[in-house]
Amino acid sequence: MTYKGLIQKYKEYLPITNDTPSLTLLEGNTPLIKAINLSSKYGVSIYFKYEGLNPTGSFKDRGMVVAVAKAIEEGSNHIICASTGNTSASAAAYAARANIKCSVIIPSGKIAYGKLAQALIYGANVVAVDGNFDEALEIVKSLSDKYPITLVNSINPYRLQGQKTSSFEIIDALGDSPDYLCLPVGNAGNITAYWMGFNEYYVKNKCTSLPVVYGFQAKGSCPIVENKIFTHPETIASAIRIGNPVNWDNANKVVNQSGGSIEAITDEKIIEAYKLLASSEGIFAEPASCISLAGIIQKIELGEIKKQSTVVGILTGNGLKDPDIAIKNIKKVKSIMCDEKKIKEIIFK
Ligand SMILES: *Cc1c(COP(=O)(O)O)cnc(C)c1O
Repeated sequence: MTYKGLIQKYKEYLPITNDTPSLTLLEGNTPLIKAINLSSKYGVSIYFKYEGLNPTGSFKDRGMVVAVAKAIEEGSNHIICASTGNTSASAAAYAARANIKCSVIIPSGKIAYGKLAQALIYGANVVAVDGNFDEALEIVKSLSDKYPITLVNSINPYRLQGQKTSSFEIIDALGDSPDYLCLPVGNAGNITAYWMGFNEYYVKNKCTSLPVVYGFQAKGSCPIVENKIFTHPETIASAIRIGNPVNWDNANKVVNQSGGSIEAITDEKIIEAYKLLASSEGIFAEPASCISLAGIIQKIELGEIKKQSTVVGILTGNGLKDPDIAIKNIKKVKSIMCDEKKIKEIIFK
């Protein structure tokens, strides 16, 4: 059957009624790619769910399509969000598709160039503020309380409903739950959504068990790990630069129920994993996503991911979103004379 988008495919698991518009950009249905080289290096079956192949290049599309469809069903014609980048790109795209207005509030100078370009080209009303994500979120919450405008940050419950469908796809692809699920944690919506998805789908699909869930935060932005709000979160992984996560309590529930944990990873390790993933598997994911691989390696080294087991790492966003980071972390390319002999010398060195 041809794929008609996430709402159509998973209708029975989503809060969809006859009045919900059939909005889609054919989000979801992303590949689960076996990391053949890393799996043989570590003696663990490592798979990556490549969410960077969603229509706007991140998993945010899964939740946004449901949130925007429900907003329209409820009579709204204006959505708003605070964003470190990917939420605004996704909100702007679905608002354009649905012919409604979209306003996005972003921390000035703190968002990846590709993400900003997306929000602008999709036609959103972009407001940059001198503040961080957490401060911007307080303002959009207050505005959506007072005025007829729908908040589409992950406080909006429809976001998590859409996001949980990725778990369904993983079970469908593997024929079972993986032993471990590893993913980045920012506002902790995604970790909450995955757990919800596995729980709703695993019995019906005769899975042997639920995965152990390991979440990862950047060392300079790890409120859940240290159990304190970070007023000035800092990390190269801008998508998870969050000091006061919306779904903090839910994240703790997930790790308690699954027997997992949330750990901190340094920016240095994130960048190492970012380069390793691209150079060893041909998969380019943004830095926040690559914390999944950095975390997998750490857990294998600690023996907390067992040899021969099956691990799924979530690659939340596409590497092309933030080319500046790639260029900054790679040896500079020097230009030389356009001469066959000179070029030959270099490529066979
Ligand atoms: C939003 C985002 C995250 C964090 O997800 P949360 O649900 O906020 O924990 C991680 N990576 C990327 C690329 C994102 O866009």
